[in-house]
Amino acid sequence: MRCAVLSIGDELVQGRTQDTNAPWLISRLDTIGITVREVRIVGDGITDVMDAITSLWDGHDLIIITGGLGPTDDDRTRDALNALEGGDVERDVVAEAALVARLDRAGVDANEAQRRQADRPASWRSIANANGTAPGMDGMFKSVRVIALPGPPDECRPMMDAHVLGTLVDPALSVQHQHEISCFGLAEAPVAALLGDRLQEGADPATGIRVSRGLVHVHLRSADVELLAREAALIRDRLGACVLPEGCECPADAVAASLQTHDLTVATAESCTGGLIGGALTDRAGSSAWYVGGVQAYANSVKQELLDVPVALIEEGVVSEDVVEAMARGACGASGADAAVSVSGIAGPDGGTADKPVGTVWIGTCVCGSVRSRCVRLPGPRSRVRAWTVHAALTALWWHLEGVEGAMRWDVRS
Ligand code: ATP
Ligand code: MG
Repeated sequence: MRCAVLSIGDELVQGRTQDTNAPWLISRLDTIGITVREVRIVGDGITDVMDAITSLWDGHDLIIITGGLGPTDDDRTRDALNALEGGDVERDVVAEAALVARLDRAGVDANEAQRRQADRPASWRSIANANGTAPGMDGMFKSVRVIALPGPPDECRPMMDAHVLGTLVDPALSVQHQHEISCFGLAEAPVAALLGDRLQEGADPATGIRVSRGLVHVHLRSADVELLAREAALIRDRLGACVLPEGCECPADAVAASLQTHDLTVATAESCTGGLIGGALTDRAGSSAWYVGGVQAYANSVKQELLDVPVALIEEGVVSEDVVEAMARGACGASGADAAVSVSGIAGPDGGTADKPVGTVWIGTCVCGSVRSRCVRLPGPRSRVRAWTVHAALTALWWHLEGVEGAMRWDVRS
């Protein structure tokens, strides 16, 4: 199956909106064994839209289009498809009734421009849109199947899943199974070294490495699900403590899983991250079951007054082992949580010293009364130091919760 995805919209070619529909559609098609050969983005101009469709239908069996199906004059995909198909255009009565009812619920009388969204070539079908007024279109140009979906992601995606994907499933296609292994604390090169010759082209499973925001992700693909599971287990074993549990994409996921397993609650005490760790934890749905709360102890007075950090420790150096340990203990004490994680560091660009350069962060963890701490030195600008501090602190907490002694590449050994 030779498939192309065409994203349409002036905002896409002018850089105002990032095309997120195409990558999402590609990954959904991939799950049923369809590999997309080409992705194209064009503006809303009718000539551009028609040229793109006519050039893509040579050489492809399936074209999936998103965008330009709305009722306004600047949405021209429907007109382009109706004109290119060349036959009779029909108003889909079911689609029209659905959009009239939807507008009626919003207190709007459907006008002709809105009703025209239900127009489609007579031999095509309309695709129901549960989240908007613009129906999709599905039909054939000779031997090429064309599917058009609206641009808004919260309309396009449910329509693809509910009404399109199932119609594309072909048992003759070999479905690639996938597995992703994520780790924090290792660099890309040592991970690649541990993978040996698995990264070579033609290997089964096909293996790739992706680095994103301090995390290294190893991606495996194979048609053989058992081989995939065996290889994944072997790689996990080799990568050691830095590998996040299956299904976890970042350390916050691992902490959430660990807290639930051990039935523990957690609190945060953050200096240089100013709430980012609490934010990462509460990003998870259901976090109220195990996240108690946090103190953004940015100023020393807050460390002292709310977390009970002795002033003498702060005077000796606020980015220090003693201070983060006191902060973690203080967070448990103040909140009643079973566990806590604390950070104090120098995010930069100013504030570094020869002893403690920018990127130096002390992390403290307290789990049921036992306290641990470690110092890391994170590279890069302020935004990266803060983002990676979140992962480093949550990795340290996860290891402590699991009773694991792990090492990160940024550890500063005293
Ligand atoms: P309508 O929304 O009127 O039905 P449409 O299908 O063309 O028509 P637009 O109005 O162009 O959709 O876009 C609606 C919203 O969806 C905009 O915020 C736009 O930026 C977003 N959008 C459109 N195409 C994409 C895309 N490929 N990826 C991500 N967002 C998109
Ligand atoms: Mg548009």
